[in-house]
Amino acid sequence: KEVVNLIAAGEVIDSLAAVVRELVENSLDAGATRIVISVWADLWRIRVADNGCGMDLDNLRLAATAHSTSKIHDYDDLWKITTLGFRGEALHSLAQLSDLQIASRAIDNSEGWRILYDNLGEPVIEEAIAIAPGTIVTVSNLFGNWPVRRQGLPTPVQQMRSLQAMIHQIAICHPQITWQVEQSDRPWFTISPGTTAQDILPQIIRDLKLGDLQHLKVELLADLENSEYLELVLGLPDRCHRRRSDWVKVATNGRIIKSSEIEQTILTAFARTLPRDRFPVCFLHLKISPNQIDWNRHPAKAEIYLHSISYLQKQILSAIEQALNLNPN
Ligand code: ADP
Ligand code: MG
Repeated sequence: KEVVNLIAAGEVIDSLAAVVRELVENSLDAGATRIVISVWADLWRIRVADNGCGMDLDNLRLAATAHSTSKIHDYDDLWKITTLGFRGEALHSLAQLSDLQIASRAIDNSEGWRILYDNLGEPVIEEAIAIAPGTIVTVSNLFGNWPVRRQGLPTPVQQMRSLQAMIHQIAICHPQITWQVEQSDRPWFTISPGTTAQDILPQIIRDLKLGDLQHLKVELLADLENSEYLELVLGLPDRCHRRRSDWVKVATNGRIIKSSEIEQTILTAFARTLPRDRFPVCFLHLKISPNQIDWNRHPAKAEIYLHSISYLQKQILSAIEQALNLNPN
């Protein structure tokens, strides 16, 4: 059983960026509006602090136990997943792959608690602490007992780059959040909140000069009760790029996904309307009913299967072509 646990753990948590992804998704599920991420790469340490709903002591004790999730209660819930997490695996895995500490104060409690786990995932310290409402999770010495896993990772510089890209990807899906990111106790970057992805995009792709961004919202169903829509932010970087520089990202319900079908559709739509030397910048966010999505393809939940893909492709194609034809620049 132990071994099975650890294999599952390693599949979800395979890098510093994956730790950030899991912790930040928990903060978002907890309704946080401000998230502070601190990274000490040389110590293999990451800390994520949020102002979300927090946990009382009972829930805190459960958080890192096997298959414990507060987000799914029965089989039916699986078909209407609206939270980012639902497997109840991340904190349990992290407790075994690192030195984990979780400190939390429920929003309506006057005191908070912290629990420190040893690297077998057993709680060794539990004590009351002074802390603002919200949660602070600290992962230290990641893969300390897994030298092979550390050796398999890219250089620290590359890891920091993918960590930053991961935060950017999450931020653009959640434009209302204030992000503050520190590296080795020094400010690294921040992302200010906005109302839509259009406000975030210029903050995260600074190396491309973006022209005017267009923001579109396309209703997918006539039926207003099921408000399903796609949100598009389109941009055209300057012509004079030496290298190909498209930036195309697709998200569903708050998470960036891999969908070569949709990415291809976006590129096709741009290619039909633009001269060859212009490369697209496009963020597409599908807000669709969770039962249209099959998440269970990959433990990191990056690759998904969409039930109505060909209908979506048609809508995307016509929306982008229309927008570009109306506003050629
Ligand atoms: P999952 O997100 O799939 O439920 P996790 O292992 O990531 O599983 O988290 C386990 C549980 O711990 C969550 O269901 C939630 O109840 C609680 N939790 C984790 N992080 C936070 C947080 N930042 N704020 C509030 N509760 C949290
Ligand atoms: Mg989670």
